[in-house]
Amino acid sequence: MKEIICIHVGQCGIQVGNAQWELFCLEHYIQPDGQIFRGEGINNEINEDSSSIFQEIKLGKYVPRSIFIDTDPMVVDEVRNGRYKSLFHPDNLITFKEDASNIFSRGFHTLGKEILDISLDRIRKLADSCNNLQGFFIFNSTGGGTGSGLCSQIMSRLSNDYNKKVKLGITVFPSPQISTTVVEPYNSVMFTHYQLYGLDLNIVIDNQAIYDICHNNLDIENPSYSNLNQFIAQIVSSLTTSIRFNGTLNTNLNEMFTNLIPYPRLQFMISSSAPYISYENYCCQQPSTYQISNSVFDSNNMMAKCDPRKGKYMACCMLYKGDIVPQEVYKSIAQLKTKRTIEFVDWCPTGFKIGISRQPQFTLIQKNLKQVERSVCMISNSTAISQLFENMSYKFDQLYAKRAFAHWFVGEGMEECEFSESIEDVRALIKDYEEAGVETSEEENFVEEYE
Ligand code: GDP
Repeated sequence: MKEIICIHVGQCGIQVGNAQWELFCLEHYIQPDGQIFRGEGINNEINEDSSSIFQEIKLGKYVPRSIFIDTDPMVVDEVRNGRYKSLFHPDNLITFKEDASNIFSRGFHTLGKEILDISLDRIRKLADSCNNLQGFFIFNSTGGGTGSGLCSQIMSRLSNDYNKKVKLGITVFPSPQISTTVVEPYNSVMFTHYQLYGLDLNIVIDNQAIYDICHNNLDIENPSYSNLNQFIAQIVSSLTTSIRFNGTLNTNLNEMFTNLIPYPRLQFMISSSAPYISYENYCCQQPSTYQISNSVFDSNNMMAKCDPRKGKYMACCMLYKGDIVPQEVYKSIAQLKTKRTIEFVDWCPTGFKIGISRQPQFTLIQKNLKQVERSVCMISNSTAISQLFENMSYKFDQLYAKRAFAHWFVGEGMEECEFSESIEDVRALIKDYEEAGVETSEEENFVEEYE
């Protein structure tokens, strides 16, 4: 059994955490007070691997292996006083007195430093309580000051102290059209620069993309943050199924990493999931394995606003859950490989990794979580993600050409040169994706054959 520790930073990271732990509790029959629910017809074996994410602190009482960190106390106070107040260990809810005002350097240098040491100390305690720590899941947004700045500090320290452990980010990046703060491009560029040295893999989330999915596919009229977060939680649920539940064809995290990351810098993943079922269709026949496999390649279903048809896939990991017949999966994948809209780089032409678990998925149906017969979550590495960085660097350049708002950052302990270092790194990243998509030349082919 391997454990993971979830680190939730800033408002977004924490609110996503609320949705995620609610879903984990549902899946592991753990009640809001941390007690196991023992009811008729419940298979208690289901809990045998729950200790990968929950710690049993006394007989039958579980607390999440998680930590919530924010410079601003408001959002964590809601957790402290909310429905799940007895679930979380109070020592693992860490706050300071002020918010980071959307400024990276306040989260990174000034305010963040006030709670960095205590946060790292708690993380170390959580790590020490594990028998076989596999790694960390880190949740944040890049738009805010705490999520971008403090999270960058935490990642840097983790990569020093836990170099060999897996570090996976679930990160809300800014949407291409909507900006929630003017300085979002600065924060995002700086976070991206630090994450390249702090994380191994990042699941890129775009609020606008999930908002559109909730609105268009699920008929939710005005999706709220909590709806969006339930959606993100489903991806985390699929990603961690292999750690939390036994399964014959489960794919573990390390295998997934090996298959998804051809080069360390190309670590930004696009995710999608299926089925999306509206309330009206929930009781009708549910989509087949082929239908759900096909639908995760639809660009309207991607959780990042970029069009995979304008790039090439390097690898795809398909995580199936529920009533799934493996032969049907293999047949579906074979059919998908023949589609012209799904193009792979020529140096890795069939990069599919498959995981199957019998554990059913809870999914969002008319604002409620309900079990579906079968589901799939796709995590893919596509060169199309560079569209996100092009957009980010364009917006950064617009601001920085005039040095607009830069004084807020420099006034909080940052050097002016950090702006140019960070944007250079993002530009290099765009180039890396470009090169990955270029067809292998005759010469390179010849060298390979000759060798
Ligand atoms: P921080 O606390 O300083 O890190 O700031 P925030 O986490 O509020 O960052 C602002 C960004 O996060 C904006 O792009 C918001 O749209 C996004 N955001 C804030 N709260 C949530 C949330 O609960 N869910 C999602 N999906 N996005 C959020």
